[in-house]
Amino acid sequence: MALIVQKYGGSSVADAEKIKNVARRVAQHASGNQLVVVVSAMGKTTDGLLTLAHQVSPAPDPREMDMMLATGEQVTIALLAMALHALGLKARSFTGPQVGMRTDTAHTKARITRINAERVQQALDAGEIAVVAGFQGLSEQDEITTLGRGGSDLTAVALAAALKADVCEIYTDVEGVFTADPNIVPDARKLPRITYDEMLEMASLGAKVLQSRSVEFAKKYGVPVHVRSTFKPDPGTLVTKEEHDMEEVLVTGVTHDRSQAKVSILRVPDRPGIAAQVFGAIAEKNIVVDMIVQNISRDGYTDMSFTLPRGDHTRAVAVLEDVARTVRAQGIVHDQRVAKVSIVGVGMRSHSGVAARMFATLAREGINIQMISTSEIAVSCVIEDKYAELAVRALHEAFELGREREAAV
Ligand code: ASP
Ligand code: MG
Repeated sequence: MALIVQKYGGSSVADAEKIKNVARRVAQHASGNQLVVVVSAMGKTTDGLLTLAHQVSPAPDPREMDMMLATGEQVTIALLAMALHALGLKARSFTGPQVGMRTDTAHTKARITRINAERVQQALDAGEIAVVAGFQGLSEQDEITTLGRGGSDLTAVALAAALKADVCEIYTDVEGVFTADPNIVPDARKLPRITYDEMLEMASLGAKVLQSRSVEFAKKYGVPVHVRSTFKPDPGTLVTKEEHDMEEVLVTGVTHDRSQAKVSILRVPDRPGIAAQVFGAIAEKNIVVDMIVQNISRDGYTDMSFTLPRGDHTRAVAVLEDVARTVRAQGIVHDQRVAKVSIVGVGMRSHSGVAARMFATLAREGINIQMISTSEIAVSCVIEDKYAELAVRALHEAFELGREREAAV
């Protein structure tokens, strides 16, 4: 008998009909397996709750925020349990606190500290389907917490690790992880497998299939994660540890992120402590910067550029104008609309010339590269936002990632 953890996201449980559909889907797996089903809040419920909170207060208290946010998932678990009962199945719903999901006290972005999954195990042993609220836990001070946006993925993976499940299936409105966004590249191919590291790069580079922290957790505990469609029966993408043959492929996928902005500080005095001062001021405002580039110094001055989420652009510019004055820089320039395109693949570790091929491809399309960053398994370029789709298509073609290519090989 296999123990399977399934997770259904908000769009899969958006209304009564969809919840009944999920119940039928769960029922298909029920015989011969032990099932834990983790669910998100219905549709855009969490967004709606956040809006409400900001309507009553400019700065909602984080503890109360979690008290409110946790209600979204609690509605779904009860409804899904009822729908399963209506199909004649034994099922019982549980909140995060009830399944022993313990966290630290960082409200709205809590980290899991331990799980006491005894209660879930008992339900499973009694032949029940355990329906568990994603995204929520109980702090060491017995306060309700939430795990950050998209946190239901993390709940599912963490429960799968604690219960030593055979697989953690993430059901969603896409069919799996693709070589590129199929809305932009019609020829994009669903990947049968991808490594944890590639998935992490893709998640942080803008492919929003899985919450990053859930992938880190899965990697740490070796949980096999299967990303698949709620609405179609076909297998999706298995996220797993690296196997030897996975390195043979040069590039696994092309991702893009069009929600970035770029800021540069010009002619900053080049001496110890300046970068700390600049980025310290930014960090103090809780702005997370992404790519950072510092030029070589000339006559004791240098330029620094970095990218950040577009939503933080205005605040960052305000802070930096102050900082620029304090450190006697020449000034700042900024661009509210840049895009980052990236190629990802563990094969880069063992092949050379991958970055060069990427740059040549962009050059051929007349796309100027503004910034470059590399990791062991990814190369990213910041470009003008209007070229994002063109760049993705050209790279997908250049690295022969499409379906036609595959058929030809
Ligand atoms: N409902 C939460 C959110 O929208 C958690 C989740 O869906 O994973 O972020
Ligand atoms: Mg989600």
